[in-house]
Amino acid sequence: MVDCLFCKIIDGKIPSKLVYQDEQVYAFEDIDPKAPTHVLIVPKKHLAGLKEAGAEHAEMIGRCHLAAAQIARERGIEDGYRTVTNVGPRSGQSVFHLHVHLVGGRDLSWPPG
Ligand code: AMP
Ligand code: ZN
Repeated sequence: MVDCLFCKIIDGKIPSKLVYQDEQVYAFEDIDPKAPTHVLIVPKKHLAGLKEAGAEHAEMIGRCHLAAAQIARERGIEDGYRTVTNVGPRSGQSVFHLHVHLVGGRDLSWPPG
């Protein structure tokens, strides 16, 4: 999508710190990390958010979560991490290209704010 920040990152038009990629998934360091590990995992194909998803997006959404689990394993943070997808402006979603936040490497309180 032409005017999407994360599409521009995937296309290399905006720089990012790449963590992982495969044919469907792109993962990079959040520019404003909220924990020692804060990685964003996004599908390479543009999709605005979870509420716009349909059954045809099941695989790419699943792959984003599996990539998060793999990154967490590699970083040794399996004693506690969180995968978060903000959905809609009231949740704090600010970029309307579906993404999973992988947050970990510190104690995480519950419930989130
Ligand atoms: P959300 O608020 O859930 O939509 O998450 C968007 C995330 O994108 C925030 O955590 C931002 O810090 C992050 N972000 C915004 N711009 C960039 C960028 N250029 N590179 C990496 N992360 C970014
Ligand atoms: Zn996009």
